[in-house]
Amino acid sequence: MIITDTHTHLYSEAFADDRNEMIQRAIDAGVSRFFIPAIDSTYTEAMLQLEKDFPLHVFLMMGLHPTSVKENYQEELALVEAQLAKRDFYAIGEIGIDLYWDTSTLEIQKKAFKHQIQLAKKYKLPIVIHCRDAFDDVFEVLEEEKSDDLFGIFHCFTGTLEQAKRAISFNMKLGIGGVVTFKNGKIDQFLNLIELKHIVLETDSPYLAPKPYRGKRNESSYIIKVLEKLSELYALPQEKIAEITTQNSKDIFKI
Ligand SMILES: [Zn+2]
Repeated sequence: MIITDTHTHLYSEAFADDRNEMIQRAIDAGVSRFFIPAIDSTYTEAMLQLEKDFPLHVFLMMGLHPTSVKENYQEELALVEAQLAKRDFYAIGEIGIDLYWDTSTLEIQKKAFKHQIQLAKKYKLPIVIHCRDAFDDVFEVLEEEKSDDLFGIFHCFTGTLEQAKRAISFNMKLGIGGVVTFKNGKIDQFLNLIELKHIVLETDSPYLAPKPYRGKRNESSYIIKVLEKLSELYALPQEKIAEITTQNSKDIFKI
């Protein structure tokens, strides 16, 4: 069984003490493909090191996270572009809009999001969207930018069935993680109405640990708990869910 974690911050400081053991634990559990979203330039070196340490398992994205869109965002975007010009990445991510931490930057968040969608089209890469308290604004930008060559993943999807269908209409797969195991997570109530071809698995580690680890540090091996939950919701064996969602990740990232 090959399980793909389509969104995991393995370079995070949260893993400073046991990074290699933690990654090995995941690989031993069958989680052998890790897609690594960028945040901003302060993490680029750590991401490149991670790829050196686990070249067969680690696949890097490049982008500027919405909570890192500050006054200097144009300099940061220039660094993103410099990296993209220099070498291959598997997606532009994570990008999007976050109004939970800061609403004052909405206008520049939108600009950065739009600009990075255009970079994705230029490099023929998928986008990985971060959307927190911002569905309307994210959909507004996607509406302006939608086209056959725009596709990707709506990471950590936690919206309604209507919002799920809307995201899918923009060629997005839904990234499903720990929230599906939460008692008040809500998406478990309708997820089986969405065909599995639209779903990929993720942890977003070190954040959003699934039950029974909720509130603790998350790690990629815990994706098994997400797999178990989906197996229950779709009434399919875990192997089948792993197979379909890994294939979906291959369709998106082309590896
Ligand atoms: Zn993330």
